[in-house]
Amino acid sequence: MTTTGRQQGRTALVTGGSRGIGRAVSRRLAREGALVAVHYGHDAAAAERTVKEIETDGGRAFAVRAELGVPGDAATLWSAFDRELAAYDAGAGPGLDILVNNAGITLPRPIEQVTEEDYDHIFAVNTKAPFFILQRGISRLRDGGRIISVSSAATRVAYPAIVAYSMTKAALEHLTLSLALQLAPRSITVNTVAPGFTETEINPTLRNPQIRQALSAASVFNRLGAPADIADVIAFVASDDARWVTGQWLDATGGVHLGL
Ligand code: NAD
Repeated sequence: MTTTGRQQGRTALVTGGSRGIGRAVSRRLAREGALVAVHYGHDAAAAERTVKEIETDGGRAFAVRAELGVPGDAATLWSAFDRELAAYDAGAGPGLDILVNNAGITLPRPIEQVTEEDYDHIFAVNTKAPFFILQRGISRLRDGGRIISVSSAATRVAYPAIVAYSMTKAALEHLTLSLALQLAPRSITVNTVAPGFTETEINPTLRNPQIRQALSAASVFNRLGAPADIADVIAFVASDDARWVTGQWLDATGGVHLGL
């Protein structure tokens, strides 16, 4: 695979970058020339696999471990990032050009079945962790940088079966609006990319052919999204071509809203 070079000389951090959408984003940004920090929580082998794939493609990457959703997670992530970056490239400064808040979990339960522990945990991973990662990350982002958070189509359509999940992503979208205004003087853009049903391990029910068919039919293209479909949109938002796009919610759903 060739690199287009449009991210040459830039550094990116992709949370949850070892698998699914995050893996596709990590590989895509690396193909474009970025040095990519592939963040992971527990699965070091998956992160190493993604780093190896990037290296095989001719790119540069290193893994960064930090469990999210636990106290002090943002501090742990940034100190791991500093340590691994210095180990990978002793000459590199601590700066960052692209931050992709991708790590997330789902909670397929209607309101009656959501416990306080469930609620606290999903907000801790999907909302609190990105908030404090950004709080500590803003000063590291270079002027002209990019912040992209992975939201969901579920914030614009009612899905009672995943109500708490949708709430976590709606909060992330508001963070996008506030930071887009705050960081505009530094030409940093802040956007949200919202996938629809995408073929990853987050949704084990996709292995059921009937559910698969029903979710595929939600898109006007009658298929599930592939991680690369989302990664390509994120790569555009991360590029110079999207310098005039900020504070936006970008639909990457295969048109799920069109038939509603
Ligand atoms: P995935 O489960 O394959 O990937 C999620 C990533 O987040 C993994 O790398 C995982 O290790 C990481 N992660 C989760 N909890 C973590 C924790 N506590 N600490 C550290 N890392 C953690 O699923 P995916 O579909 O690739 O999800 C990526 C993002 O896309 C998520 O934010 C998800 O909500 C969003 N999304 C997915 C879909 C879909 O249908 N797949 C639809 C809309 C939005």
